[in-house]
Amino acid sequence: MPRDTPELPAKDLRTLIPEYAGLGRETTLLNPEPGDPGVRESSLGGEPLWPADEPWPYCAQEDHWTYGSDWRNTTPIVPGAVPMVPILQLFARDVPGLEFPEGKDLLQLVWCALTHEQDPGPVLPRLYWRNEAEVVAGGLLSEIPRVSEGEYDEDHMPEPSTLSPTTAEDCPRWLDLPKDMWETWEPRLRLPTGGSMWPSDSNIIGTKVGGWPAWTQPADWPDCERGHRMEHLLTITGDIQLGDCGGVYFFHCRQCPGLPWDWRFDCH
Ligand SMILES: [Zn+2]
Ligand SMILES: [Zn+2]
Repeated sequence: MPRDTPELPAKDLRTLIPEYAGLGRETTLLNPEPGDPGVRESSLGGEPLWPADEPWPYCAQEDHWTYGSDWRNTTPIVPGAVPMVPILQLFARDVPGLEFPEGKDLLQLVWCALTHEQDPGPVLPRLYWRNEAEVVAGGLLSEIPRVSEGEYDEDHMPEPSTLSPTTAEDCPRWLDLPKDMWETWEPRLRLPTGGSMWPSDSNIIGTKVGGWPAWTQPADWPDCERGHRMEHLLTITGDIQLGDCGGVYFFHCRQCPGLPWDWRFDCH
């Protein structure tokens, strides 16, 4: 072993820092698998249970563009509004770990699958909390508009997938340690060469509900307008079902009425 490589004190951050193990939270991994989910099933990219009296959302940003089939193409080629695409639909019965607002048992998420010049990545996502029985009683929208060729980027467009939720314990990424823990441990793990030698953390990278965000860039937690640090609601990450979309992280504040929410995006 070269002289200037200190021996690792532990292989796992949980063994090394007992307080870190204490930060474990339950997460529900959604485990998407390509399939043919029905409107009354939880899904990624499946057709959602949508009320007849609510128009399907469109994105009317003016800075839409897509690489299309040629990555050298940087000219905006998508004029006008495009339909949003269904991303996630979760029924309370499939995700017992997710706390729904009173009277709600269905969470839906859509986003615009094009790239926006101002803000790369899928943007303008919208979240909806609904009551399944009410939607069914009121009738369903007869047709969910579909995006056409050239109205989406493949990396932002999930393949319809069924979900097989499982639970696991999730800890923060080492970049996301609480400040005092970071300040205590970072100097101890600093190498003479200037870098740090951190054992692997116990953060789970995957499409999941609850737990900790699987940031690939430095942590960037949003606050609500009243200054509360929001809680991690869910993470959607790129995988076989969803190209290389990076990570899209959703947060909400349960201390404020109306469940204000926000989102962050980072690239792989
Ligand atoms: Zn858009
Ligand atoms: Zn708040």
